[in-house]
Amino acid sequence: MVKLIPLPVECTIRSGFFKLPNVVRIYSDSDLCGAKSVLKSILEKIDGVRCEDALDSGSSHVAFCYDRELSNERYILDITENKVIINASGFSGAFYATQTLRQLFESDSQSPLNNIQCAHILDYPRYEWRSIMLDESRHFFGKDVVKQLLDLLAMHKMNVFHWHLSDNEGWRVEIKKYPKLIEIGSKRRGTHFMAWGNRKDSAVDWTPYSGHYTQEEIKEIVQYAAERNIMVVPEIDMPAHFGAVLAAYPELGCRGVKIEVPIMHGGEKNGPADLIACAGNSDTYKFIYDVIDELAELFPAPYFHIGGDEAPKKEWKNCPKCQKVINDNKLKDEEELQGYFNNKIALYLKTKGKRLIGWNEILKSTSIDKDAIAQYWTLFRDKNAERWLVTNGRIIASKHQAFYFDMPYAVRNLKTTYKFEPSQYKIKDPNGGILGVEGTLWTEWISTKERLFFQLFPRLEAISEVAWTPREKRNYADFRSRLKSFIKLLSSMNIRPAPLEIVDTGFLRSVKIGKIFHLNDAHIEYKSALSLNADSETP
Ligand SMILES: [Zn+2]
Repeated sequence: MVKLIPLPVECTIRSGFFKLPNVVRIYSDSDLCGAKSVLKSILEKIDGVRCEDALDSGSSHVAFCYDRELSNERYILDITENKVIINASGFSGAFYATQTLRQLFESDSQSPLNNIQCAHILDYPRYEWRSIMLDESRHFFGKDVVKQLLDLLAMHKMNVFHWHLSDNEGWRVEIKKYPKLIEIGSKRRGTHFMAWGNRKDSAVDWTPYSGHYTQEEIKEIVQYAAERNIMVVPEIDMPAHFGAVLAAYPELGCRGVKIEVPIMHGGEKNGPADLIACAGNSDTYKFIYDVIDELAELFPAPYFHIGGDEAPKKEWKNCPKCQKVINDNKLKDEEELQGYFNNKIALYLKTKGKRLIGWNEILKSTSIDKDAIAQYWTLFRDKNAERWLVTNGRIIASKHQAFYFDMPYAVRNLKTTYKFEPSQYKIKDPNGGILGVEGTLWTEWISTKERLFFQLFPRLEAISEVAWTPREKRNYADFRSRLKSFIKLLSSMNIRPAPLEIVDTGFLRSVKIGKIFHLNDAHIEYKSALSLNADSETP
């Protein structure tokens, strides 16, 4: 039986099997040659199999056929005993057909070796934005891990990689005009390893920490992603979460005081309370525009994420320059000053052909640019979101109760992620405004690749189905039954997901979750879960 994740829109099983020959002849219409190369690399990993180009469809075992009637990401996969035919109108759809074939060849353990069940599949995504975010400020993973992550996202038909490249605890991308961002901003004296509330020196590992990407590495990764139908959207968090910049260029802060790159994690309430860029200083805008100029050359995506979350207003209240902007522009308060700041950045981004994305705090200002996209992470059904949708604003759903994958499974279980329904607003026809969904990997307490993948898998399987599969086809029990064979596929790739025994069982019920969410519990969960596997290494 075919066990695909995400579940296709339509899949009709037929009798018989397609047996992969030792020499596979593949034909492709010219528009779909990129996908043919992808399929070759998948098939040639199978023992004893090699591929050849076929001159026409008739003499091939596998044929990619151009079909102008199909929309961009749509494909039809027709598997008969003699032949596999893929219909698509471009690379995206044809690429997804190859990923479906990959799953069929690699995870269908009930079929004879190198055989796949005959079937007819019609498939296309529910949402156009299917994304995972990686925070590399708190911990830096490097390009090999990012490429592996991109491979895995592609396998799940995710198409956006949101890259959180700056935050208080480190700046991670080379900007040639501002070398101190790397010389100073990418390095810190230690790393906070206890929960947010514990801010003692004993809660810090005092090993110096650093890491960044050169512009050449960024180009390489963006290209690698494009080959997998993934768009990379960079995030430079501003005006808050700006500590690494202020450590390098203190004159961009309201008081110009010299600080070090922050070591302690935490947001507005539990973090460094007053770190923010000065919104009344023209040098701040010049810096941001210069950074956008360099990043726009590296990231062709028509989007740019400016963060915009958790901005403390204390400095702005006491800053003559910020107050002058408020007075000169007749702004109501500091919240509207952030709206003014965001709109200046949005306008600049438009000159580069890019739309601004920000966390949902950008909607606190009523004057925010109508083209901005709000990424919703706090309480999802709130009046700002509904107001935004009513006025044709667009939203990405990242509700933290379902899609914050740094959280322990005991607190955010797999079922909650799977069952989250993005179109839950009370307003009429909300679907058009919801661009899609995104899972986030914040990394305050994730320092290794193994831990990163423990938090991500099998949540990636769940969110991929929320993003792709029609609402009426989603069924948690059915998903769990398919997940078992999928986990075997991940294991064969040396990915160790969280054991299925713990993802819904409240494994950590005996551990108290404090008033401030205690992320060390995630670490306890991870260590305990590893002990379920005798061959596991100590984290
Ligand atoms: Zn200021």
